[in-house]
Amino acid sequence: MSARPGVVYLVGAGPGDPGLMTARSLELLASAEVILHDRLIPAGALAGTRPDAELIDVGKRPGGAETAQREIEDLMTERARAGRSVVRLKGGDPFVFGRGGEEAEALAAAGVPFEVVPGVTAGVAAPAYAGIPLTHRADASAVAFVTGHEDPAKEDSGLDWDALARFPGTLVLYMGVRRLPEVTERLVAAGRDPGEPAACIERGTMPGQRTVTATLTELPEAVAAAAIGPPAIVLTGPVAARREAIAWLERRPLHARRVVVTRARAQASGLAAALRALGAEVIELPAIRIVPQLDSAEVRDAVHSIHAYALVCLTSPNGVRLLFEALAAAGRDARALANATVAAIGPGTAAALTEHGIRADIVPERSVSEALVEALREIEVAGRPVLVARAAEARDVLPEALRERGAKVDVVALYRTVAEEPDAAAVDTARDADYVTFTSASTVRNFIDASGGRLPERARIVSIGPVTSEAVRQVGLTVDVEARRHDPEGLIEALMADASSD
Ligand code: SAH
Repeated sequence: MSARPGVVYLVGAGPGDPGLMTARSLELLASAEVILHDRLIPAGALAGTRPDAELIDVGKRPGGAETAQREIEDLMTERARAGRSVVRLKGGDPFVFGRGGEEAEALAAAGVPFEVVPGVTAGVAAPAYAGIPLTHRADASAVAFVTGHEDPAKEDSGLDWDALARFPGTLVLYMGVRRLPEVTERLVAAGRDPGEPAACIERGTMPGQRTVTATLTELPEAVAAAAIGPPAIVLTGPVAARREAIAWLERRPLHARRVVVTRARAQASGLAAALRALGAEVIELPAIRIVPQLDSAEVRDAVHSIHAYALVCLTSPNGVRLLFEALAAAGRDARALANATVAAIGPGTAAALTEHGIRADIVPERSVSEALVEALREIEVAGRPVLVARAAEARDVLPEALRERGAKVDVVALYRTVAEEPDAAAVDTARDADYVTFTSASTVRNFIDASGGRLPERARIVSIGPVTSEAVRQVGLTVDVEARRHDPEGLIEALMADASSD
C-alpha cells in the first residue's frame, strides 16, 4: 500500500545492505512525497523515489552539523499538515537507539497521524553477517542491546555496569569505538569474565564489512590495531567464538573484490546483482545510456513492411526490446515475423527474442558480427530483402557481407548510445577497483572519456569478447581476462576463474 497523504511513516532502512530493506519500506519510499533521511542509509535507497519527491538529508555530515532533533520533528509535522505523505527514513530499526521513540511522541503530541515500519537493526544484522549467532542453546539464552554511546565515566551514564557484567547472555553494544577501552574496563571491573570471547564488527552488511575477534580485555587493542572506525557493533559473550565455524561472508567466491560494471544502466543491474550475490563489491559506472529512436522514418517504414523481409537480424538484447516496442506501437506483435528467418547475434539476443515468443533460427555461439556472417552462410539471401535492426553506431561487417552476397539490406537504427556523465564519487572508488568489466566496445570508449584519464591503477580488465577486447587495446589498455562465452554469465565465469587463480 502506498504512502497516504498527511501521514508520517517512521521507517527503518536496515543496517546498510540494500537487500535488507523491507518490502514495505521500498513501497513507501516509491510513493512518498517528502523523505527525510539520515546520512547513513543503504546505497541506492533513494533510487526508486518519485522524481518530484522532496528529499531532505537531516543526517550529520562529516565536519558539519546535523539538523537539530526539534527541527526534524517540526519539518515532519509541517509537511504532513500540508497534506503531504512523509517518510522519515532511519538507519536500522527506528525504535532501537535511533530517537524514533522521541519522534513518534512529538508526532502524537502534534496530533499528526503516523505509522512505524520496523527495520533490521544493526545489532542483529552485523553479527549475522559476521557469522555470530546472538543466541545458542549451549552458550546464550538471552541477549541485551546496550548503547555504549554515553560517556561511561559519567556517574549518571544510565547504564548499570554491575547488572551488565552479571547479565547471563550476549551483550550487544551500539557504540563509538572510541569508548571501547572504557567500556571493557567498566565491564571487567564489575566482574565480567576478562577472557570471554568478544567481537567488533565494522560497517556490518555493507561493502568492506570487517570483523575483529579477541578476548574481552584484548578487544580494544585488537580494534585499534585494525584501525576499526564507525559504524561498529561490539559484542561480548561465548557465542563470539562460534564465528570460527560459521563465518560465511568471507568465504564467498568474490568476497572483498571490487568490481566496476560499465554497462548502460538499464542492463547493468542484472550483471551487478549477479556479481554482488557472489560477494563482490560492485561499483556501477553506467558509461552509456540507450536513447531509443523509434520515431524515425526508417524505423516506421521497416516496422510497416516488416512482413516483407525474408531475413531479420538482431544484434543486441536492446535491439530486440526496442523492435518489439516499435511493433507494439504500430499495433502489431510477434506474428509480423512469421514468414521471416530470424537471426540473433548470440545467446543473449536469442534469449531476449524468446521472451517475445520468437525462437531465433540462427544463433552463433560467439556474439560477434563475423560469427553471424559465418552462420548465415547456410541461408539463401541473394536478391532477397533483409532487415538489420541495431544501434546507430555499429560496425558494418554484417550488412556489407550480406550485400556482397546480393541481399537487399535495410539497416535500421533503433537506438543510439550516448555517454553518461558518471558520478564523481563512483569514478573515485573505481580507481581502486580489482576488476573493470567491459561488455561492449562503446562502453570502453565512453568509460575512457568519462574517467578523464583517471584510470584504475591496478585493476584487471575483463572483456566480454574479442570485439570489446579490440576496443580496449585501441585505447591503450591491456585485456587481462576475456570471456569464452560472450554474455554476462560467460564474463562472470571468466572473472571468477581469474579471481580464484591468485
Ligand atoms: N537505529 C539503528 C541504530 C542507531 S545508533 C539500528 O537499529 O541499527 C547508531 C549505532 O548503530 C552506531 O554507532 C553503530 O554502533 C551501530 N550501527 C549502525 N549501523 C551499523 C552497521 N552497519 N554496522 C555496525 N554498526 C552499526
